[in-house]
Amino acid sequence: MNDLTDSDKDLRSLTIERLNLVLKQARRSARQRLGCIIKQNSWPDIDLHDKLVHRKGGLVRAVFQMLHRDFIIDLNLLETVLEKELIEQLRLDGWHISQIFLDETQQDPDGTIKYRFRTADGHCFESVMMFLRNRTTACLSSQLGCRMGCKFCATSRLKFIRSLTAGEIIAQLYYLVAQHGNIDNVVYMGMGEPFDNYDSVADSVAILTHYAGQSIPPGRLTVSTCGLPAGIRQMADDEMAANLAVSLHSGTNDRRGEIMASARRYSLAELFDAVKYYYDKTGKRVLMEYCMIAGVNDSDQDCHQLINLLTGSGVQCSVNLIEFNSHELCDYQPSGRDRINFFCDELMQSGIETTIRFKRGESIKAACGQLCNG
Ligand code: SF4
Repeated sequence: MNDLTDSDKDLRSLTIERLNLVLKQARRSARQRLGCIIKQNSWPDIDLHDKLVHRKGGLVRAVFQMLHRDFIIDLNLLETVLEKELIEQLRLDGWHISQIFLDETQQDPDGTIKYRFRTADGHCFESVMMFLRNRTTACLSSQLGCRMGCKFCATSRLKFIRSLTAGEIIAQLYYLVAQHGNIDNVVYMGMGEPFDNYDSVADSVAILTHYAGQSIPPGRLTVSTCGLPAGIRQMADDEMAANLAVSLHSGTNDRRGEIMASARRYSLAELFDAVKYYYDKTGKRVLMEYCMIAGVNDSDQDCHQLINLLTGSGVQCSVNLIEFNSHELCDYQPSGRDRINFFCDELMQSGIETTIRFKRGESIKAACGQLCNG
């Protein structure tokens, strides 16, 4: 984990284990500051991790619940569970609770809603809420812009500003939960490459899945990468409580490198070494995303190269065929539905579970690859 800097002292970004450490430190500092005025035993017992984090009614758990179930954004509200002096110490130490602000909302006729948020330091980013077959899916952003350079993606044309903190990532979901109630699925497929912001994404997953917070089942969270091998391995080593999705888009290195700049850095062999490592370690199926672009990656040969790659990988994969969403920042066009259906049939006949994601939210530029704060 990164060391915290003064500008990043956001209580909402802390896993429950780190929150425990921060509260302990604040108590020590407050005792020193106030000296004999405060007796040792007059303080709440924020101490042993095992004793308190897992104890029903533990103070750390109570603070965590207020942050992640009650969505408080005002430190003063912690007064119901913490001493005033301790809250004052947190404030003196520079701690705050991160906030994001709604800038604009747009709704597509298909029901998809795009939210543009603004960070406290004034930068915009977007989240998307989708409604499909009675299921709700929140698509979260992890960075302000993206450095990966996927040719088909509008986000890649934005200037990269910075990564979002864990608190800013989960704040998107909390806003959407407040609007729509419980959400069935959470996907890290918005703006940014999650593994280019690994620590904050990992912390946000730990926070969202913790039983004292939103308690989202790990099977309902998916982290999607353009294929950074180190992040995939780390996700396996850390046993991150989320599913893995990989943007593949081609079964050959050359074609993949044309579509995604990051693929020129890591070959398919390196990528699949990491995916195999993940699969062997976790036993979890990996979702491969394949954006279908007319004349670029949708020929019969492209299909058979994809099938050969996946069936020879030793990894249990499923494929999500994505209907490409055209936009003015890119001259790619979507494949015809006959090509998408052809891919789907061939993959299924090869024993690879395949789904098709048709366009959603296209009129408001909320579809896959279209997020650009517009
Ligand atoms: S598709 Fe994802 S990884 Fe690629 S540029 Fe867009 S946001 Fe970044």
